[in-house]
Amino acid sequence: MRKKANIVVIGTGGTIAGRGETASNTSAYACSVLTIDRILAAIPEVSSLANLRAEQLMQTGSENFNNEHLLKIGKRVSEVLKDNDVDGVIVTHGTDTIEETAYFLHLTLKSVKPVVVVGSMRPPSAMSSDASLNLYDAIAVAIAPASRGKGTLVVANNEIHTARDVMKTNSFKLEAFRSPYGALGYVAEGEPRYYRMPSRDHTVLTEWSIDRIEILPKVDIVYAYGALGEEVIGTVASEANGLIYAGTGNGNVAEHIVGPLVAATRQGLHVVRASRTGNGVVIRNGTQPDDDYGWIVVDDQAPQKARILLMLAMLSNPDKRCALQAAFYRY
Ligand code: GLU
Repeated sequence: MRKKANIVVIGTGGTIAGRGETASNTSAYACSVLTIDRILAAIPEVSSLANLRAEQLMQTGSENFNNEHLLKIGKRVSEVLKDNDVDGVIVTHGTDTIEETAYFLHLTLKSVKPVVVVGSMRPPSAMSSDASLNLYDAIAVAIAPASRGKGTLVVANNEIHTARDVMKTNSFKLEAFRSPYGALGYVAEGEPRYYRMPSRDHTVLTEWSIDRIEILPKVDIVYAYGALGEEVIGTVASEANGLIYAGTGNGNVAEHIVGPLVAATRQGLHVVRASRTGNGVVIRNGTQPDDDYGWIVVDDQAPQKARILLMLAMLSNPDKRCALQAAFYRY
């Protein structure tokens, strides 16, 4: 029989650590109240899968996560992965921004060991909660040799997603997580089954190591609509180093916004055209002359994940816009 794997489970809060007043409270409940020890104690089945060590790193909803939270989680996961006795790491996390933390880890960890980020849409106290099974499945994925070298994974609702692609696409349903090109695989009866591979560079193939990142540049997101005031661009430009413009459709920019955006770009702000549709590619020099304006396009990345990538790309190339553009086509 194969030796049981050693897995570290790091708790950060979220619905998976939540508790409702009654079992019928599937959407209204207190978040981030159960410790990671208590969450695991409620799933005795997990001890047959792996030797588990639990750690409470934080206890807060992921809607609060800023750059310091990302760095804190990344640095701790990296430290734990360096222990030769550790075979994999699980991070329990609120689902609201799970995709951003997972993508950040995917791009900055330097290990082939499995790292799985997991949350739940219903607290453990609710009827038909997904908390126990999601965590059980995450452990099953973390111990599987087939999960090595695939970057950071998000497990939810019996599916295994690559951190690059996954997004929360529903505010309350169990079936909330989608990847535009489909999941990498399923977890069935505690067995991961992979059908696809991540195709873009991640973890050991990227130019960033979390161990060497102390601060991230400020990148903001502006959500487009026709009545958007042009003063918003100036306000963002006065504070931030980068701006993800979540444009309508194919990254379209309203006529009255073009001027302020070009002016801010000339003064050094890096502007990335994205799409508020959250799907599809934004075509370079398509609806806007990006070469003339010095703008970057997002390829197919969602605005909230483009923000993570731009922050990292600016660490390597604070000024070279062609290098920033290349990062969006590589990762
Ligand atoms: N506030 C929660 C969060 O941490 C709610 C969402 C969830 O965990 O499902 O993101």
